[in-house]
Amino acid sequence: CISPDCYENHPSLWVNALPILNVDSHKYNRGHALVWGGWPMTGAARMAALSAARVGAGLTSVAVDTSQNDIALSVYAITLTSIMAKPVTTQQDLDTILSDKRITGLLIGPGAGVGSDTKLRVLSMLKSGQATVLDADALSSFQQDPESLFQAINGPCVLTPHEDEFSRLFADLVPTSDNKLARARAAAKISRAIVILKGNDTVIAAPDGRAIINANAPSTLATAGSGDVLAGITLGLLTQGMEPFLASAAAVWLHGAAATHFGLGLIAEDLPDQLPAVLKQLV
Ligand code: AMP
Ligand code: MG
Repeated sequence: CISPDCYENHPSLWVNALPILNVDSHKYNRGHALVWGGWPMTGAARMAALSAARVGAGLTSVAVDTSQNDIALSVYAITLTSIMAKPVTTQQDLDTILSDKRITGLLIGPGAGVGSDTKLRVLSMLKSGQATVLDADALSSFQQDPESLFQAINGPCVLTPHEDEFSRLFADLVPTSDNKLARARAAAKISRAIVILKGNDTVIAAPDGRAIINANAPSTLATAGSGDVLAGITLGLLTQGMEPFLASAAAVWLHGAAATHFGLGLIAEDLPDQLPAVLKQLV
């Protein structure tokens, strides 16, 4: 306990909320995660999808942007063996996928591209009412009009900004040397979402004021794609029905724990495969 209302991240805070399996477990009752798969940058969404599967989502799909060509579908389908690739050419295609109530968690942002198309896709996802993780370009696409994003958030939602993405959405919350916790809390209140404000001292904050500061992340995580893995871990836990604040805290800790298996030269794609072993120590 850092202060009466803020804790240092530790498994004891959320281990009892992790998904548990039993003899009746079936891929259809372990959650179905859906990741938006952009083009031409595909690695970010692929690592995120793999990470969701690696923390136990029963099914994971990628909604692949085929509006420009079909190559994207081949890239996702060939490189992701246990993950399904679903073509999306029009906004209607996406809405049809989102109307499937068996899908229980959504992620958009990694490699999505900044712009009006991404904005529309984010709004469709939020309208579906499913638990949603917004990362990277999904956040930056609302730089001109963050209020329209906050108004659309009505259900379980987690925002995973690094400091630059945070400043695009919350320009009024100016960083100082000692206000990261206060800024994350204020942002959660304004957006009505869980906010994971990333960095070496990631803060997880909820709209109701709950907050956790993380300290297990090694600096080897300062590498391309590592945030995409975190977004996917968060998605995977949310998809299985874990409470969003606890899922977010667990995801940040698992991300750090996975990284501790490596030294200099860790790359983001090393991380997903470590997650089952890290989880085995906990449950
Ligand atoms: P992104 O900037 O979206 O790729 O996310 C980077 C990820 O790595 C986040 O989870 C950060 O919290 C983590 N990270 C970045 N730099 C450091 C650092 N110096 N020490 C520990 N974790 C870091
Ligand atoms: Mg990122």
